[in-house]
Amino acid sequence: MTESGAKQNIVSLLPEELEAELTAMGEPRFRAKQIFGWISRGVREFGQMSNLPKALREKLAARFFLYEPKVLSRQVSAIDGTIKYLWELADGNALETVVMSYKHGNTVCVSSQVGCRQGCAFCASTIGGLVRNLEAGEILDEVLFSRLDSGKPISNIVLMGIGEPLDNFDNVMRFLRLVNHPDGMNIGMRHISLSTCGLIERFPELAAQDLQLTLSVSLHAPDDETRSKIMPANRGRGVDALIAACRAYYEQTGRRISFEYAMIDGVNDSPEQARLLAAHAKSVAAHVNLIPLNHVEERAFRPSTPEHLKEFIRILEQQGVNVTVRRRLGSDVDASCGQLRRRMQARGGTQT
Ligand code: SAH
Repeated sequence: MTESGAKQNIVSLLPEELEAELTAMGEPRFRAKQIFGWISRGVREFGQMSNLPKALREKLAARFFLYEPKVLSRQVSAIDGTIKYLWELADGNALETVVMSYKHGNTVCVSSQVGCRQGCAFCASTIGGLVRNLEAGEILDEVLFSRLDSGKPISNIVLMGIGEPLDNFDNVMRFLRLVNHPDGMNIGMRHISLSTCGLIERFPELAAQDLQLTLSVSLHAPDDETRSKIMPANRGRGVDALIAACRAYYEQTGRRISFEYAMIDGVNDSPEQARLLAAHAKSVAAHVNLIPLNHVEERAFRPSTPEHLKEFIRILEQQGVNVTVRRRLGSDVDASCGQLRRRMQARGGTQT
């Protein structure tokens, strides 16, 4: 865990860790539950924790750090009500979170890093590189303050915002335990999806956590030539190794993987690529989620034509693959990876 200045961010601590801290401070353990309760309700000043003795509040303030993320901007889609937040963190960095409304409930899409170093050619998040990892408490605050600010109850979480979750492994695992905690937000693992560009060396460790979450793999191309061109993370790893890692993950966890596939005109949308994708998906019983490419100003790629998309789906279905096309939400509020933060940077609006 990183620290903000000399003080540790108390929001990143699990209740049992808080208990240990309090015991070390010579305080009763039951205070941990009270503090975790305040934190889980969004209280970000020790002075407001009214059931704690004043002396303890002062001790906590001397030892720990608490910060409420500030809303830098809030854009609400006129089309579908999607809300896109840009938050300011304690160190001045900006962070994006999206709240999407579906029939079955509201989903928060959280960022896991400030920036990203994976370099995907179609993605806006990676343009300025990686600035830093987010702490567990900062990721938790994306969910909590999105709920508090929007007034919408949150039933699902997707780790599909800015950053590569498996490149910030420990903080992301800690975030999952925090958000899942029964005394906290209590969001079930089966309601959480983690998306990765395929850092396969982390798959065994993730499987070993025995979480019931859904692993989404951003495949985007079924052959090495194309995938290495648009996703540098493929270089030195390769599609065959990725599929083998997916198979091992599925066998170990019993959880079906989902392949994310952004349809890019003339790059990854040929009938041959559809057939190869189908073979990969079938070999690991994966579900395929086709994403209409979001146009990013700085990128030359264009979305596939409706005809190509239709033919691509036809081939996948003919091969017996379970395929869905993701509905585009928030198209009027830059609600795709990194675009809002990117725009603020271009205007010189934030420090990052
Ligand atoms: N680093 C992780 C999670 C963040 S991106 C990952 O790579 O999976 C979430 C998803 O959006 C990924 O599947 C990513 O490839 C995709 N994505 C990025 N830019 C996009 C764009 N311009 N259009 C459509 N999908 C995009």
